[in-house]
Amino acid sequence: MAEQTDAAPGAQRFIPPDADTIDELRAASGGCRGCELYRDATQTVFGRGDESARMVLVGEQPGDMEDQKGLPFVGPAGRLLRRAVDDAGLDPAALYLTNAVKHFRFEARGKRRIHQTPDRIHIEACRPWLVAEFARLDPAVVVVLGATAAKALLGPSFRVTRQRGELLPWPASAQHPEDFQRVPVDRAGAVADAPPTRLLATIHPSAVLRADDQDAAYEGLVADLTVAARALAG
Ligand code: SF4
Repeated sequence: MAEQTDAAPGAQRFIPPDADTIDELRAASGGCRGCELYRDATQTVFGRGDESARMVLVGEQPGDMEDQKGLPFVGPAGRLLRRAVDDAGLDPAALYLTNAVKHFRFEARGKRRIHQTPDRIHIEACRPWLVAEFARLDPAVVVVLGATAAKALLGPSFRVTRQRGELLPWPASAQHPEDFQRVPVDRAGAVADAPPTRLLATIHPSAVLRADDQDAAYEGLVADLTVAARALAG
């Protein structure tokens, strides 16, 4: 495992200011050295999905399989999330999936790579990518999956266990709403009324896999996603 430094320069300097699209951001993210996590991981795992997606889901970090494939949510937790999305009646094609931290943090034990939760320094270092993604997306509903994503978007005092399943105003509920404020323009280029955007926090699908009662945890995840699906429809 790469030795953790006390300070990380952060991702901001690696983000091209003239990047218009998610694809351009994704290409640039491959060269990010904003914290030490790039050293041991295989590659940057950026968000995926349509830029016009009406729902954005934010998870923690890529896992072992995501790191190898370069795609988010393709491992066991991702498969569970896809099933939950389906059971909640959401169209997977209408989703944009990303993570708060774009490199896999792990501890090597023999040939195994054991997931390690990102520290605050990694969340803060990587946050500029998340802000840049949101600046190029226009979701009606944002879904926060687990504590790491909640820390990145809502701040360290937000507790998923206390507020999961609640629809909150977005970006007003963000720790720094100004980072996510968009100025909507109409077809004539004039400032228009912003359609309401909501945020909902729930558990990360990996928490379902770790739960003693997986069926109950899964039902809880689906119930929360169903609230998000109704908000999207309404
Ligand atoms: S985790 Fe984020 S900030 Fe750190 S190197 Fe990877 S992309 Fe850059």
